[in-house]
Amino acid sequence: MPLDLHVFRTLSDNAGALVRCPASGACAAIDAPDADQVLAAARSKGWTISDILVTHAHADHTQGVAALKQATGARVVGPSDAAASAPLDAIVGEGDRVALGEASFEVWHTPGHQDGHLSFVCAESELALVGDVVFVLGCGRVMPGRMAGMWLSLSRIMALPEATRLVGGHDYTLSNARFAIAMDPANPALQARLLEAEAAKAQGRFWALTTVGEEKVTNPFFRAGEPALAAAVDRPGASAGDVFAALREAKNRF
Ligand SMILES: [Zn+2]
Repeated sequence: MPLDLHVFRTLSDNAGALVRCPASGACAAIDAPDADQVLAAARSKGWTISDILVTHAHADHTQGVAALKQATGARVVGPSDAAASAPLDAIVGEGDRVALGEASFEVWHTPGHQDGHLSFVCAESELALVGDVVFVLGCGRVMPGRMAGMWLSLSRIMALPEATRLVGGHDYTLSNARFAIAMDPANPALQARLLEAEAAKAQGRFWALTTVGEEKVTNPFFRAGEPALAAAVDRPGASAGDVFAALREAKNRF
């Protein structure tokens, strides 16, 4: 049975996400930027939080975990380097599995944005919780010296089946779309998505959910292997990883 999913705005642009196993009722909050807002979202769906999955140690993802755990008694799992900022019941890493009712997530170590960053991948439900690695039309900032690691993390996510839904950690969609079109102006699918991003912003519609297939045709970082993107950053013939690094640096300056 597919997992239920609810993605919502919390703080100013963070994504809150709740994932629920309909057979058992087990429900996981993905990170906890704000405990009260995550609890309100669960109440609005009639869901009871039983688990908290922490993607990475940054404060805007962990600062509500202690209060959310206290309010719900949820079991908290996350990477070892988040233990200082969140009360972890279990430390998990690459290759571990995290059960949620009848579903099971594979834990991937996806460094680059932050050294301990984890993604949680449920192949059966075509769902990957990717934190600050992938955003709609973009990717997370990369720590100094970590471009190769980030490219490897992105490449693993890009290799998932195209129908896989990706839940990113923030809605930076419109600013990402503006950078993307500057790099890839002749891409008709991207032109359509820029219009959609402008409409979403105008309507106040939160947008942090996408698919591997949509990103493959529109996200400039996913398209680093395409000649058009290499040309955009003046790196004709360079490897996709080098083009990725140049694109990420260009985005930092954009
Ligand atoms: Zn972060």
